[in-house]
Amino acid sequence: MKTIPFWTYIPEYKEEQKDLIKIIKKVLSSGKLILGPEVLRFEKNFGEYCNVNYAIGVASGTDAIFLSLKALGIGPDDEVITVPNTAIPTVAAIVAVGARPVFVDVSNDTLLMDPGKLESVITKHTRCIIPVHLYGQCCNMDAINAVAKKHHLSVLEDCAQATGATRNGRMAGSMSDIASFSFYPTKIIGAYGDGGMVVTDSATLAKKVRNLRFYGTNGDYYAKFSGYNSRLDELQAALLTFKLKKINKYIKERRQIANRYLTLLKKTAFTLPVVDPKATHVWHLFVVRHPKRDKLKNYLAAHGVQSAIHYPYPLHLMPAYRYLGYKKGDFPVAELAASQILSLPIYPGLSSEDQNRIINLLKPELFN
Ligand SMILES: *Cc1c(COP(=O)(O)O)cnc(C)c1O
Repeated sequence: MKTIPFWTYIPEYKEEQKDLIKIIKKVLSSGKLILGPEVLRFEKNFGEYCNVNYAIGVASGTDAIFLSLKALGIGPDDEVITVPNTAIPTVAAIVAVGARPVFVDVSNDTLLMDPGKLESVITKHTRCIIPVHLYGQCCNMDAINAVAKKHHLSVLEDCAQATGATRNGRMAGSMSDIASFSFYPTKIIGAYGDGGMVVTDSATLAKKVRNLRFYGTNGDYYAKFSGYNSRLDELQAALLTFKLKKINKYIKERRQIANRYLTLLKKTAFTLPVVDPKATHVWHLFVVRHPKRDKLKNYLAAHGVQSAIHYPYPLHLMPAYRYLGYKKGDFPVAELAASQILSLPIYPGLSSEDQNRIINLLKPELFN
C-alpha cells in the first residue's frame, strides 16, 4: 500500500521541471544573484496581484512580520494583539522587536480572530493588531479595522497562509496598513527554499522596509539607521515569478479538492471547515474537527494516510511564552480546537484516486 503524504511538491515539480531548470540556468548565468532584476520583477508582479502599491521581497515570512513591525516603529513597552492558534513565527516576530504579545480568542466556526474580543484587551500600550488569515481564509477585516481605527492602532495582516484569498472582493494583504507573506515551500506559492514579502500602500513604510532589509541602507554603504540582512535572492524570485503566473491553477486545484471533501464528508461525524460567505478561501489547509482526533490520526496513519495538526499547542501554553502569565482556560475556543483539529492532505498534484482513498476511509459510522 502506497503511503499518501500529508504534503509533497514532487508531482508539481515533475510537471514544471523543464521550465524551472531553464529559469535556474538563466539566473545562474546572469551574473546577478542578490537584489537584481528578478527580485524587482517579482515584487512588481506580486504587488499588482495583491492590488497594493508596494511589495518588498525579504528572506522569510517571519522576517516579513518582524520588519513590518519595525517599520511601524513598534518595540519595547508596546503591546501587539494576535491569536493563540497561529504559527509560532507570528508571535516570535512580535517578541523579536521587543514588544509584548497579547492574545484574543478566535471564533468557534472559522477559528479566526474574534473581533468582538479585541476591545477588552486594549490598553494604553497597545499599538498594533495582527489578524492571521489562518488556513487560507481572511479574517473579518471590516470589524477589526473599525476597532483599530477607534483606538488609533496599526493593523498588520499575516497572510502567510492566504496568498490570493479575498474578503468582500478585496485581496488578502490589501486590507490593512502593512501585510506579510511567506513563500515557505508548503504555502500557496512556495519557493525552492525560503522567501517572504511585505506589501503596503504606504510609500513611507515601503521605503523603511527596503532599507531595513539591507543593513539600514539604500545599497550605498551609508546606514541611516541600524538594519538587518533579509533579502529574497534572485533565484527564488525568478522561480516565484513563474509560480505566480500559475497561482490561479494552484488555487483552482485546491478548491476542487476542498469541494470534494466538503461534499463527500458531509454525512460523517467530522465537523467540516466553515467558509464565511463574504470570503473566498484558498485552502492552504483543510482542517476537520473530531473529539477523538488522535484516534482518527492513528487510524489514517495505519491505513497509509498522513495527516497533520495546525497547531497542536496554543501559543500561550508553550514554555517560550509562559512569562506572559497566561494559563490553561484563558482561551477556551482555541484550546478546545487544538485538541480536536486535523489537517487532511490538500495540495496541487494530489490525485483524485488518492483523495478517494482518504474519503473512503472516513466512513459515516467512523468514531460516531
Ligand atoms: C508559515 C507562516 C509564517 C512564517 O513564514 P516563514 O516563511 O516560515 O518564516 C508566519 N505566519 C503564519 C501564519 C505561517 O503559516
